[in-house]
Amino acid sequence: MSGKFHSIGPKATRALGSDLLTNKDSNMKKEHRTAKASYRLRTHLIHGNHESKHWDFDHHLVPPISASAAYRLGSVHRGAQGFVEFASDEADVKGHVPIYIYDRLDEPTRGMLEEHLAYAEGGETAVTFATGMAAISAALAITNKAGTEIVAHHTLYGCTYSLLTNWLPRFGITTRFADLRDERSFKAALTNRTRVVYFETPVNPTLDLIDIALVRRWMDEAKPGKVDKDRLLMIVDNTFATPYCQRPLALGADLVVHSLTKDIGGFGTDMGGAVIGPLKYHAPLLMYRKDFGGVLSSKSAWSILVYGLPTLATRMVNQQKSATRVAQFLERHPGVASVHYPGLETFPQHQLARRQMTSYDGKFAPGSMVYFVLKGEEKAATEAADRFMDYIANHAYSVTLAVSLGQIRTLIEEPYSMTHSALPAELKHARGLEPGGIRLSIGLEDWHDIINDLEIALEQV
Ligand SMILES: *Cc1c(COP(=O)(O)O)cnc(C)c1O
Repeated sequence: MSGKFHSIGPKATRALGSDLLTNKDSNMKKEHRTAKASYRLRTHLIHGNHESKHWDFDHHLVPPISASAAYRLGSVHRGAQGFVEFASDEADVKGHVPIYIYDRLDEPTRGMLEEHLAYAEGGETAVTFATGMAAISAALAITNKAGTEIVAHHTLYGCTYSLLTNWLPRFGITTRFADLRDERSFKAALTNRTRVVYFETPVNPTLDLIDIALVRRWMDEAKPGKVDKDRLLMIVDNTFATPYCQRPLALGADLVVHSLTKDIGGFGTDMGGAVIGPLKYHAPLLMYRKDFGGVLSSKSAWSILVYGLPTLATRMVNQQKSATRVAQFLERHPGVASVHYPGLETFPQHQLARRQMTSYDGKFAPGSMVYFVLKGEEKAATEAADRFMDYIANHAYSVTLAVSLGQIRTLIEEPYSMTHSALPAELKHARGLEPGGIRLSIGLEDWHDIINDLEIALEQV
């Protein structure tokens, strides 16, 4: 490695991240704005860290992509040292270039992405996975063991619900579902076996919000004796908001999980997941990933590093502007019964949204997801929604019928029968997830065109 190589390491990443998140530099004199920490996060997401401890790419405008399943070790001693240092916190803060051994253990392109994800979320460390579900499984597996319990908000992404109810119980990890907007419901679900409080906010797909700081307070107030509160951890799925719109670690979460497949990847070309949090989870996450094997490929890591993360802020700013226009249009439309978008004044949790969902510059950032329900009795509304979406599937140019979200293309889907089909019907009804509910993920098209396509399709129902 060249002499230019400087270690940044997780500790430095944290310092960098927290400085950036609080914009301490705003009063600095112009001529002093050369220290890396004085630049704003949006700029960092594009220029990255050219002194990554994972690779010296000082002379590249774009970081290189690596493709090597195994690495030359040089000597048995160095190989042995590599195994000693793998997933060791000490080696990590020492900061020299890691001794790479085998892709499944650690890999430089992925390592660079992880540094960037950590400071985008204001966390000390990030570990990436092959998909969002692999990241969620890892976060829950390293924090639980047979006999422990999870308390989860009752409405969740369908596969997360299936993981909690179909798979984890086989390993003796059980989940109690509660309404995490309701103190009594939440506290009633806590027991001395509770280890993890898990939720999404905004909730997929209804966009209900959970007050992260308030749930943290309830966790801290939990009755000693009844609840082992020193061992209670909060894990937040921040996929819907993205770190641009919300940073749960700063509000009291212990770990954040992401599907990188969505807004962070942004272009719909790659799948990925990440767990972000304090340094103490770095080693267990790496060990878990090594043995369960769900690593992110270096090629996917590279796309997210080079295209996704650097454009996140710009995409979110534009997408949420359009989302606001679309939500306002839907709200005024006579065929629409209800519109859920945190940016609308009429959104029931609008005040919480304003407090909790803010950009790196502290501006209100309600995101790019909209959920709405058509008018009519249940059966009529469902049929209308099907006609509406089939019409879009066949005729609309700017809106596409597809699952997934957070892409540059506007996507529409029906959570009840698609992404959330794993939830039992009674549960869906009780949670405000209606058969005719429609989820929109707003992309980067001209918002006039999106509204036009929606308007024409609404005339058909
Ligand atoms: C898509 C999604 C996931 C799962 O991510 P994958 O990358 O598809 O595995 C988890 N949580 C939420 C909120 C999602 O939208």
